[in-house]
Amino acid sequence: MHPIRQRVLIIEDEQDVTDLLARQLAKAEFEAVTAFNGEAGITAAREEKPALIILDLMLPKMSGLEVCRVLKSNDETRHIPIIMLTAKAEEVDRIVGLEFGADDYVTKPFSPREVVLRVQAILRRGDNRPAEKHLSAGDILIDLQRHDVRVAGRAVDLTAIEFKLLSTLLQRRGRVQARDRLLNDVWGYEAAIDTRTVDTHVRRLREKLGKRGDLIETVRGFGYRFRER
Ligand code: CA
Repeated sequence: MHPIRQRVLIIEDEQDVTDLLARQLAKAEFEAVTAFNGEAGITAAREEKPALIILDLMLPKMSGLEVCRVLKSNDETRHIPIIMLTAKAEEVDRIVGLEFGADDYVTKPFSPREVVLRVQAILRRGDNRPAEKHLSAGDILIDLQRHDVRVAGRAVDLTAIEFKLLSTLLQRRGRVQARDRLLNDVWGYEAAIDTRTVDTHVRRLREKLGKRGDLIETVRGFGYRFRER
């Protein structure tokens, strides 16, 4: 049985980087399509309907951030996960934050293998899957409908916010979540409220999860990530 190849769009003007990524993606059974500037990338995103986009920050004329903003504000392309390639570590919080809304990022220089692993992780646990009733990670089991959390069979008493925070992090497992994005998605606030609110709740959530609290990793400088495994 042949699984359907998922299409990945690479938007990057450097031919050698594009080739490297396309080769590695092909090895992992993806179909790679390429665009060498932002405008062509946006058109390709609409026409080719890729499952995911790898987008370079440094592009001629239209920057990667601008392309990201256009894709994330368009109904046709908003749902497509975006991994940004960037050489600028200091841009990271803006890239994955509310401002641009990329789903993940990789800093240059990168290993193509690592990029493909990120692609696979995002597609496996993407937000675009139909709604699930249960979530699990090791011996943590979440019943989304009954709002019930168990760790190794033992019920854990969480507040509504802690429950939503845990299920959001777990649904985006392996992907860094910026504080302002968590505020928006979990609390429903615009980024005006203090992002330390997130830290306080994560701390309490970790305490309640006991040893499993370690699964929620702090990504210094901007957010949290539920550990891949
Ligand atoms: Ca470039």
